[in-house]
Amino acid sequence: MNILYNHDLTKFTGFKTPVTVKKFVLIEHEDDFDILPSMQLEKPLIIGGGTNYLFVNPEINEAISYTGTSITLIEDADKYSTVRVEAGKNWHEFIMEMLEKGLYGLENLVLIPGNVGAAPVQNIGAYGREVSETIIAVHCLNIHSGERILLTHEECMFQYRHSIFKHHEWKHVMITHVDFRLNKFESPMAKYPDVEEYLRDHEIESPNSKDIAHAIIQIRNKKLPNPAFIGNAGSFFKNPIIPYSVYNNLKQIYLDMPSYPLNEHEVKLPAGWLIDKAGWKDYRHNGAGVHDRQALVLINANDAIGLDIYELSTMIQTSVQELYGIILEPEVNIIR
Ligand SMILES: Cc1cc2nc3c(=O)[nH]c(=O)nc-3n(C[C@H](O)[C@H](O)[C@H](O)COP(=O)(O)OP(=O)(O)OC[C@H]3O[C@@H](n4cnc5c(N)ncnc54)[C@H](O)[C@@H]3O)c2cc1C
Repeated sequence: MNILYNHDLTKFTGFKTPVTVKKFVLIEHEDDFDILPSMQLEKPLIIGGGTNYLFVNPEINEAISYTGTSITLIEDADKYSTVRVEAGKNWHEFIMEMLEKGLYGLENLVLIPGNVGAAPVQNIGAYGREVSETIIAVHCLNIHSGERILLTHEECMFQYRHSIFKHHEWKHVMITHVDFRLNKFESPMAKYPDVEEYLRDHEIESPNSKDIAHAIIQIRNKKLPNPAFIGNAGSFFKNPIIPYSVYNNLKQIYLDMPSYPLNEHEVKLPAGWLIDKAGWKDYRHNGAGVHDRQALVLINANDAIGLDIYELSTMIQTSVQELYGIILEPEVNIIR
């Protein structure tokens, strides 16, 4: 275990807005679990790679992170392998290591920033896949009592950008390991407009899993700002899910509005399109901004503080609600 005092987290976070943590506890190994209850942490913030936080309050009292990065093979069947991965492992590196070993199923989720431990929390997803499709169990630790908790896939209650770990009463539970079942056979999923277009342009007719990973890396690098150079947390808002009755009314006004049917009652709208159409692309508010290519991404354009980005996000929410009657829900974890 390592404890850092008055630690500056600014460069570590996605938005790169100023923030310090008074006491930052780094759990490096399972042996540290037993000492944890005696530390009597009150309400520490659980932090992984720090990429999906917006710190409006620049002073955090306590934070905790699990930093172990090992990958252990726990089952080797004919058609799949199950691997247990420590929460501190970098997500993209993990996928690339699995692809090299001939284990498939995560290739559409390449280049999502952050660590393995955060992946189940919002059930990360991209390009037609969600991480929950590969997770069979999540190992956790109650940071107050030191009790170990094992959740099955069903118990995680995965939904679109949501899981049990988002519930208030699970905020003191830290994920320490995730068990993934990965296929030994390839079943590449290319049914996503940007991916289809890339494969067509590059004349790749029967893509394998590595082709898909490569295509998505190129697409993401082109479309999304790299947080290492322009502070951002990816999509700021979730794509809203609305009933068909509301959708049909909007479609009469906005003929070109894209949509993704979810089931017979509901449809998902691209939040980026709603924000773009409302005129926000490339807008600036103090140091904060809306990205010039992807309106769903708010950026630290010029030495922003967390409050600048938060204010801009609420201005966008108000405008989208006034225009379409839709409430945008943040995907980013806002600490006020
Ligand atoms: C450029 C960019 C692109 C992105 N693209 C996507 C995308 O395509 N799809 C997508 O789904 N997301 C995307 N994101 C969001 C982000 O990458 C994910 O949310 C990621 O899982 C965050 O990982 P992290 O380790 O940085 O988590 P953090 O930001 O540190 O934490 C995020 C949340 O997870 C919780 N958490 C973290 N670790 C643990 C743990 N060990 N135990 C319990 N709770 C924990 C935190 O408490 C917090 O609530 C993007 C972000 C950026 C910056």
